Amino acid sequence: MTDSGLFDVCVIGAGIAGIVCAKELENQGLKVVILDKSRGVGGRVATRRLHNTQVNHGAPYLEVQGKFTQELIIELLEHQIIQPWPGTMYELDSLGELKLLPTAERYIADEGMTAIPKYMAKGLDIRFSCLVTTVKPTLKQTWQVISTDLVIEAKALIIAIPAPQIVGILEASSIPDLPVDYLNQLRAIQFEPDLTVMAGYSNSFSNLTWQTFKVTAKTDLARISLQSSLIEGSLQTVLVLHSTSALAKTYLDTDYSALRRAGESLLQTATELLSIPLSSPNWLEIQRWRYAFPAVPLGTPYLETTCPLPLICCGDWSGNNLLESALYSGNQAAKKLLDKLN
Ligand SMILES: Cc1cc2nc3c(=O)[nH]c(=O)nc-3n(C[C@H](O)[C@H](O)[C@H](O)COP(=O)(O)OP(=O)(O)OC[C@H]3O[C@@H](n4cnc5c(N)ncnc54)[C@H](O)[C@@H]3O)c2cc1C
Repeated sequence: MTDSGLFDVCVIGAGIAGIVCAKELENQGLKVVILDKSRGVGGRVATRRLHNTQVNHGAPYLEVQGKFTQELIIELLEHQIIQPWPGTMYELDSLGELKLLPTAERYIADEGMTAIPKYMAKGLDIRFSCLVTTVKPTLKQTWQVISTDLVIEAKALIIAIPAPQIVGILEASSIPDLPVDYLNQLRAIQFEPDLTVMAGYSNSFSNLTWQTFKVTAKTDLARISLQSSLIEGSLQTVLVLHSTSALAKTYLDTDYSALRRAGESLLQTATELLSIPLSSPNWLEIQRWRYAFPAVPLGTPYLETTCPLPLICCGDWSGNNLLESALYSGNQAAKKLLDKLN
């Protein structure tokens, strides 16, 4: 299907970076459309509704990482989208010792973390289930953006997705005038994967007092969080376990039954670490994040070119602090494009 209108800007990706960027551009009067391959907004700020509960299986909370997260937190508090999270965070170190980590201000959303991007994206024109496969410059000096569901035409293009996925789109597009160096800078940005295990139990562990463990002990586990502690009156105990990226790398292309076995094995490790019987949950779900965290950031907020037409790539891979970088990158990409168009 082709959308017959001509947009000023097409943004690929309705994660935090894409939303911030699109909002800024629309506030300046531009006609903007966002295409996202999934069925909702937020990307890696993700909440799954399952087994009569909800689980944040991407970013678990919001914390002040810089100016942009600080401003967002103030706005979200004002609109009652988030609340302070009084949870405690421990580190389980290689000696098997439990250390209470310094308290930082952290915030969660009662409705699940996706309440945050949903609030931020209000009013934007977003087309879902549109996996962008190629982008082509046309003779009319516009971009033709081809997705599985829709073809869009726009004067400028913003791509706000993990860098390796941008490379996939640009390589498939074979754009004759695209500078080789531009593509090479994107190719240099690597991502680490993550296996996220979600497990639900009857309420027999309701006396647990911790909320999150950062695991630095030598195991395949990186983090364990007690998600049900975020839900007032939760009728079940829900744990979320994150693997190390080293383990996740060995499961990038396996089928679901292998993933499930990995999940069971991580639960067994957690059982041994915490001395709580976690091996037989009522339910178990696994999420494989192929592109969870940028390994080495770019160091500048975006990558831009006008060759052959205005194109800016942005996302959390631009800087060090993940959500702060996504917000900053989206904002700066919009400002750069506005400069170019004026
Ligand atoms: C398990 C996990 C835990 C995390 N914990 C933290 C934390 O504690 N603190 C923190 O600050 N950050 C954390 N993060 C990282 C944080 O979630 C990300 O930094 C941030 O959400 C990235 O936003 P983004 O907009 O750059 O990219 P994304 O959120 O990845 O958004 C990209 C969007 O593009 C879409 N997309 C991709 N390819 C295409 C395509 N071809 N066509 C159309 N759409 C496409 C995707 O569906 C997605 O919606 C965590 C992430 C994960 C996975």
